[in-house]
Amino acid sequence: MDPVSIAIDGPSGAGKSTLARMTAKAFGFLYVDTGALYRTVGLYTLRHGVDTRDREGVAALLPDIKISMRYDDSGVQRMDLNGEDVTDLIRTPEVSMAASDVSAIPEVRAFLLDTQRDMARRYNVIMDGRDIGTVVLPEAKIKIFLTASAAERARRRYRELREKGIETDFETVLRDIEQRDRNDSSRDIAPLRPAPDAVMCDTTEHDLDASFALLSRIIRERM
Ligand code: C5P
Repeated sequence: MDPVSIAIDGPSGAGKSTLARMTAKAFGFLYVDTGALYRTVGLYTLRHGVDTRDREGVAALLPDIKISMRYDDSGVQRMDLNGEDVTDLIRTPEVSMAASDVSAIPEVRAFLLDTQRDMARRYNVIMDGRDIGTVVLPEAKIKIFLTASAAERARRRYRELREKGIETDFETVLRDIEQRDRNDSSRDIAPLRPAPDAVMCDTTEHDLDASFALLSRIIRERM
């Protein structure tokens, strides 16, 4: 039987990764966080002093980048960049912004497409990102578009960063979220938008448990 794919798309901070991870565990699917791929390219670009918006400059770096995605014993997705484990290094606000910039570059999207499709060919996956239902896996069995208001997403992200010990203030987090929303929705290639057949799911008024229950019901009904 062909593996089953579930696509979860939406803006940053809507709770995609937490909810996708929880539902993948509950349904026995592999969770694939595609943002980590863009973050890894963003980190490499920053390290090489190349402007993350410079299309030619970033495209020229790609042949030197080898990214692999693996899962550790506890099932956590880990990212290797040319053999170095960068899983924790790609979570800073600076890398988030760099990821958003490089993700608008067509060569970067093409470079990462196969890695994503390959995972879906091999495993039952719940894959989260921005264009999974529209571009990466248009044939996904279930597509969910997860959103929440920008203020609520900023509150969640702020809490998360503080818990990780990353110093920041709420206004900066909100500004970053709004900036990334603009970048992600306005770019020419694979802009953030729901697939026509996606189920819309707004979590602004839901806590994690309620959002998880909602998502699980949507999946169960369509499996
Ligand atoms: O999901 P996450 O915040 O880790 O993604 C980082 C950035 O990578 C996003 O702001 C977005 O611009 C980009 N991205 C993308 N397509 C995906 C996943 C992430 O463009 N499928």
